[in-house]
Amino acid sequence: MLNAVEQAVAPEIGTGKVADYIPALASVDPRKFGLAVALSDGRMETLGDSDEAFSMQSISKIFTLSLALKAVGDRLWDRVGREPSGSPFNSIVQLENEQGIPRNPLINAGAIVTTDHLVEHYCADSDGAEPAVVELLTMLRRLAQDDTIQIDSAVALSEAESGSRNRALAHFMAAFGNMANPVEKTLAAYFRHCAVAVTCRQLARAALFLAHGGRDPVTGEQVVTRQRCRRILAVMMSSGHYDNSGDFAYRIGLPGKSGVGGGILAVAPGQGTIAVWSPGLNRAGTSRVGSLALGELVRQTGWSVFG
Ligand code: GLU
Repeated sequence: MLNAVEQAVAPEIGTGKVADYIPALASVDPRKFGLAVALSDGRMETLGDSDEAFSMQSISKIFTLSLALKAVGDRLWDRVGREPSGSPFNSIVQLENEQGIPRNPLINAGAIVTTDHLVEHYCADSDGAEPAVVELLTMLRRLAQDDTIQIDSAVALSEAESGSRNRALAHFMAAFGNMANPVEKTLAAYFRHCAVAVTCRQLARAALFLAHGGRDPVTGEQVVTRQRCRRILAVMMSSGHYDNSGDFAYRIGLPGKSGVGGGILAVAPGQGTIAVWSPGLNRAGTSRVGSLALGELVRQTGWSVFG
């Protein structure tokens, strides 16, 4: 099946536009392509550059959401919604009409609120936001069973230096009383968790709990409750790809999350997880070749949640 995926995407590799609004991402080779499928019994099938690390970017929002739900519970939903935005990932327009409450935790504004919760929870006794970042990194390493996962500090710095848009979102929410911490403290954590570097293999392995009712099928760790897992997947299906979420559901039929580093994480409930990486993006910021590969994989496996 993976051979069929490889053949289907081969002519397209290198297409799409590499993100350049974060300068450190602009130099990534657009011809990279990796894919890893993690199955319930711990088996892993891979293609291409599946052992090369790439910038997780917004895929980290799935892990911060899982961690925040664990840390603060359903209180999270007082400050962020669960509706698709239909807007670009960094849009500010809805925030004014909706009194500073972002539509969902997977757009930038909503992810900043989620991170703000983590900073409030883990960094109350700290001037900086590092304890929240360490918590996330520890969780990722444990789930991936790989202690080598690191933050790419050059990417974090580059985003911090060019992050006017995210600062605007955070200050706008602060004006509506929807930030618990100083904007720069929360953004320091946000920029760093977006800059975690992972391989497809590590990412697919780390997310395996999402395919099994919140429980890692290999280690038995209950990472989030079954009900929360179902809800995280619902938000991924409706909002995982910004203003491209409907098309992704239509073409691929799996809950997923894209990042502007060119990665996509998709979850096939009861089956496994798929991490794919190809840096060229479509207009909505989702990996172009990554989506094509997932479409072909779902065609081969019949894993769409819609039957
Ligand atoms: N760190 C990126 C930002 O805040 C994440 C965007 C994405 O991956 O979609 O702009």
